[in-house]
Amino acid sequence: MSQEVRGIIARAKGQPVTMETVIVPDPGPGEAVVVIKACGVCHTDLHYREGGINDEFPFLLGHEAAGVIESVGPDVTDVAPGDYVVLNWRAVCGSCRACKRGEQQYCFATHNATQKMTLVDGTELSPALGIGAFCDKTLVAAGQCTKVDSAAPPEAAGLLGCGVMAGLGAVLNTAQVRRGQSVAVFGCGGVGNASIAGARLAGASTIVAVDIDDQKLAWARELGATHTCNSATTDPVEYIQSVTDGFGADVCIEAVGNPAVYRQAFEARDLAGTVVLVGVPTPEMTIELPFIELFGRGGALKSSWYGDCLPERDFPMLIDLYLQGRLDLDRFVSETIELGDVEAAFDKMHHSEVLRSVVVL
Ligand SMILES: [Zn+2]
Ligand SMILES: [Zn+2]
Repeated sequence: MSQEVRGIIARAKGQPVTMETVIVPDPGPGEAVVVIKACGVCHTDLHYREGGINDEFPFLLGHEAAGVIESVGPDVTDVAPGDYVVLNWRAVCGSCRACKRGEQQYCFATHNATQKMTLVDGTELSPALGIGAFCDKTLVAAGQCTKVDSAAPPEAAGLLGCGVMAGLGAVLNTAQVRRGQSVAVFGCGGVGNASIAGARLAGASTIVAVDIDDQKLAWARELGATHTCNSATTDPVEYIQSVTDGFGADVCIEAVGNPAVYRQAFEARDLAGTVVLVGVPTPEMTIELPFIELFGRGGALKSSWYGDCLPERDFPMLIDLYLQGRLDLDRFVSETIELGDVEAAFDKMHHSEVLRSVVVL
């Protein structure tokens, strides 16, 4: 048995997305079918459409989602029909070399559904990040479903599934920011602004937002930035030093994925400080750094994948903080849209009119 639902498909590189009928199989062993309630529009969806991730077209886009489990495969016991869940792309395997040494956040063999969703003609779909949630229902591995408190509305909760978790986790998990530290965040889109919210949550006392867009800096202020720097007109390294007694920030978060910005983050960091790269570079980019500075400044240069999150540990906790009013996930939802509006949302993202557009079903 299977069922037909609506889904947003990227058929070919650079072509506008289309709404098409998607065939969703019944869940097999280890799988679940989830009724999607909300799904955020992420830059990664656009990268898939532009062929920037891989060329396994057609893609079923969408991956920052919350929903309700409709059915599960025969052996699934951790989740059950009716459970309210946030979807994740880190269903850890428990048996790879990272998992075996107790570092499941680095799992090298995460689970996705085994069966394929297809178009009506049988063409197999590649779901974005193994999820594919711009659709009425999707098929995922049961481990990709993380139960959270259903008091949190899906348009806010679903954002933890990707970009907001990446930004929060870069600060909370990767940099492990402590009370009283100074944090500078380069790039204030959805991910960078989540890092700013994370820095506030962690108790950072100086939080500097850096961007070339005043609208994004205004959002950063609302989410907890104590200082803002428009790097189109002000040197961010000098500015950050000026607000940290001349020393630089304890932690610099690079949320752009750009060599020139990374260099600024490297230079704006205090001795023994930490740089975390959470922005995603493109394959042709290279960086050059003064080798003696790399040694002499000490500290750590880290990368953060998905905020080094463990969904089972982090999603329910962050939803609880949201429900207590300590983490303003609602602030990231700039607009709610319909399934057919994804292409228009990509345009708005380009013109930084929104932090997140969220499809509500
Ligand atoms: Zn593993
Ligand atoms: Zn994403």
